[in-house]
Amino acid sequence: MTETLIDKRARLLGPNIPTFYDDPVHLVKGEGVWLWDKDGRKYLDCYNNVPHVGHCHPKVVEAICKQAGTLNTHTRYLHDGIVDYAERLTATFDASLDNVLMTCTGSEANDVALRMAQAVTGNTGVIATDYTYHGNTMAVAQLSQTKPPIGGYWDNMAFVPAPDSYRPLGGEAGMAHARAFAAAVEEKIAELQAKGHGLSALVICPFFANEGFPDLPHGWLTPAIDAVRRAGGVIIADEVQPGFGRLGSHFWGHERMGFLPEIVTVGKPMANGHPVGAVIAGHDTMAAFRNAFAYFNTFGGNPVSMAACLATLDVIQSEGLQDNAQQVGAYAKTSLQQLADRHDSIGDVRGAGLFFGAEMVLDRDSKTPAPEYTKRVANGMRQRGVLMNFLGRNRNVLKMRPPLVFSRANVDQVIETLDTVLTETPVTE
Ligand code: PMP
Repeated sequence: MTETLIDKRARLLGPNIPTFYDDPVHLVKGEGVWLWDKDGRKYLDCYNNVPHVGHCHPKVVEAICKQAGTLNTHTRYLHDGIVDYAERLTATFDASLDNVLMTCTGSEANDVALRMAQAVTGNTGVIATDYTYHGNTMAVAQLSQTKPPIGGYWDNMAFVPAPDSYRPLGGEAGMAHARAFAAAVEEKIAELQAKGHGLSALVICPFFANEGFPDLPHGWLTPAIDAVRRAGGVIIADEVQPGFGRLGSHFWGHERMGFLPEIVTVGKPMANGHPVGAVIAGHDTMAAFRNAFAYFNTFGGNPVSMAACLATLDVIQSEGLQDNAQQVGAYAKTSLQQLADRHDSIGDVRGAGLFFGAEMVLDRDSKTPAPEYTKRVANGMRQRGVLMNFLGRNRNVLKMRPPLVFSRANVDQVIETLDTVLTETPVTE
């Protein structure tokens, strides 16, 4: 009997590489918003935020190939690529965020950011939300509530309830919810201070992407941020998911929320699939980090990665993809809201730009989450050729985050397919 690819993965890779869907997709090719499996079947990619400007964008492919054929080295030589990119990247931020440290992943970037926060504040306490993910290093995994760490959470880590606009803390949405969140942050600051850790940072995704992307008004985070600054802490904005124009109205998630972080981390979409991450901060923060830690990254900022980053940023800007995210994203959200008129299982429609989705419930009055049903819907969509997934504390938020070249016709296909799948999937657990 021939061994299937799934069996071969299990034999050779062990259990550590999970796949999506009950029937995992075996992909062989990508182009724009499209993916093809080994049998030639075509899928619409609604989920994959890594190929930000579209799968195998020719300009990014060309830049990578050209640089790989010219020079690639570790990062201890002089090379134009890293400074050219740092100049272009910092130009997208407030002038106070003027230095870049390159890494290879978002996890590394967050790990460095935690150490930078320690270096500038002299404190070690960290606050994050109680349902999030910031990466996979030992320190960052402490903030990623997928499974409790062996030995428990470190004493200097503290968690506040992840914001949920559909079921707001304190019962009232908007700024009342913001003040309840800030009160929870203040409580954790006091606990960290009492334990002698003090506060180094609040680590936050400004879109709360992994928490289920709640609908929060501009300024919502300000009361919590004020509390952090009063305690001498800094804000680390994890822009790994919402950054680089995806949200449409703004290039960065923190701009959309109306605050300025001391440290920003980025990753996933920044090189269209090539593994790259970065930390962006002010010169003084970088200098404090340099004084406190000896840091070197063999691959972070290598010439090929920088060529991929530069080409990706060029395409975002020259093809007007932030604007496309805003226009097509608004159309997608409206279309999803119209679909909610026909399907009671859609409890809440949320999102910004090309990051949108719906919270699925058994019953709108009780807002009872429907995780098993949501999973069946995501699998049904996959069977019908549209790739999306689900997340959130209750595992019941359908999440769509397609490449930024997504069109209105693509949205129509998603909505029509979702209509069919919701009609044929019984709303049960
Ligand atoms: N931060 C956030 C918000 C993420 O969602 C992720 C990855 N899902 C990471 C950091 C880690 O990035 P990476 O997998 O590149 O290490």
